[in-house]
Amino acid sequence: WRPHRPLPGLLNATELVSHWTAIFEKRGIPEAQASSEYIVAHVLGAKTFQSLRPVLWTQPLTPWQLQCIQELSSCRLQRMPVQYILGEWDFQGLSLKMAPPVFIPRPETEGLVEWVLEEVAQRPHAVGAQGGPLILEVGCGSGAISLSLLSQLPQSRVIAVDKGEDAICLTRENAQRLQLQDRIRIVPLDVTSEGSWAHLLPWGPMDLVVSNPPYVFHQDMEQLAPEILSYEDPAALDGGEEGMDIITHILALAPRLLKDSGSIFLEVDPRHPELVGGWLQSRPDLSLDLVAVRKDFCGRSRFLHIQRSGP
Ligand code: GLN
Repeated sequence: WRPHRPLPGLLNATELVSHWTAIFEKRGIPEAQASSEYIVAHVLGAKTFQSLRPVLWTQPLTPWQLQCIQELSSCRLQRMPVQYILGEWDFQGLSLKMAPPVFIPRPETEGLVEWVLEEVAQRPHAVGAQGGPLILEVGCGSGAISLSLLSQLPQSRVIAVDKGEDAICLTRENAQRLQLQDRIRIVPLDVTSEGSWAHLLPWGPMDLVVSNPPYVFHQDMEQLAPEILSYEDPAALDGGEEGMDIITHILALAPRLLKDSGSIFLEVDPRHPELVGGWLQSRPDLSLDLVAVRKDFCGRSRFLHIQRSGP
């Protein structure tokens, strides 16, 4: 074996991190150092550079390891997100397989999961016939939300739907990988298609609906980072003119699927609390109220709790 380009003197992990950080910086790649640390650590069998055994920082790398680092780093030079390069990423302490073009779970979405967990802990009514809540996730992507709820609510069951075939396959793989496949139904379904909700009726009324839907305003799409625009499925992000296209479909179908005491938890754009509140007032037939708004860790209004109105 010979490297494409010889890397004279670059023999250990620490030196390779500096080498690739410098190249990434020069080429304007965001998070240059974190990217090179993740890549080098991954090739050496660790999740983070800090968690590598210190002896590996200075130990010479094999030609095979050098080649792997070179190939993965060239993907980063093409602006591929590090999550796709590594092929796995952690969410709520679970290691999930990642593959383009399925939406990469964002750290702020952990706030949505945590809110649902609090709700379940505080409201014993949200307990289904078999001892735990029945939860519907709309737009499951890699399965991050559904699988982290299942792993932290041992009695719960989840119906996870997505219109993308890649997403359905990836959620299935991740459920198997985490041994959670027995408590999840993964259903290919487009909630915007007429009457699609009827396919979910046989599973029984849901205690909760949770979703991180596509909510980016269409005109904002082109401002997204090249990592997103070139690799992730735009259908997971583009929410139409006011980012509300999928949100309104979810809200319109939820009353048919939810128990009387059921709740909906959504991740949204900071402009959406007002827009969604207004839209719900224009649809009294749905009997839904926006009962609470929460901020993400950047202090932006990001999550909505919507409930069926009392009788
Ligand atoms: N906050 C997300 C992003 O741009 C958008 C997520 C979404 O539409 N669900 O990364």
